[in-house]
Amino acid sequence: MKYYILFGPPGAGKGTQAGAMAEKFNLKHISTGELLRGEIAAGTPLGLQAKALIDAGNLVPDEVVEGMIEDKFNTIKGVDGFLLDGFPRTEAQAVALDEILERRGEKLTGVVSIMIPDGMIMERIRHRAEIEGRADDARDEIILNRISTYHAKTEPLIAFYKASGRYREVDGTGTIEEVRERIFEIM
Ligand code: ADP
Repeated sequence: MKYYILFGPPGAGKGTQAGAMAEKFNLKHISTGELLRGEIAAGTPLGLQAKALIDAGNLVPDEVVEGMIEDKFNTIKGVDGFLLDGFPRTEAQAVALDEILERRGEKLTGVVSIMIPDGMIMERIRHRAEIEGRADDARDEIILNRISTYHAKTEPLIAFYKASGRYREVDGTGTIEEVRERIFEIM
């Protein structure tokens, strides 16, 4: 099985690119953000717990998303691999992912990192807010909190994965098609 991580700051275009990547390589796209929004929409206890954190632009507890990921690995069949979008987001989650993969006798295939400058994040998310109406996209102060959470907790993962030799970066600026071609080339 292939295990890819789709990495990048909020608004880099992970969700936009994931569909084409999953289709081309027969991967199951797993977005922890989407899974969490599903729990909120369904009004589950987990959703209720997650909602306040997400709406404020904070991360949900590591154990919550780690459990979701392992559950998906265990239950999804009929694909050649997985494309993780929005996970891992902390070093603890990255370590947990290694452990989950080890229990399965598998290892990470690679990290595809989509990079855009901070200045572009705000612009992209403001645009998305008009289309998707996500609560955590609605206010600049929430977006700024997500950007600083990314720098503080998620960006250190770049060094973590570079050290493993499985990290590849693509320029996330340009058209959707241009970015998609860059991604396909490195995959
Ligand atoms: P973005 O477009 O900002 O990358 P996502 O849809 O990936 O948004 O995530 C939305 C929110 O869901 C995050 O800001 C965070 O609150 C929560 N979330 C998603 N994935 C994780 C994770 N791996 N760990 C903790 N919180 C997460």
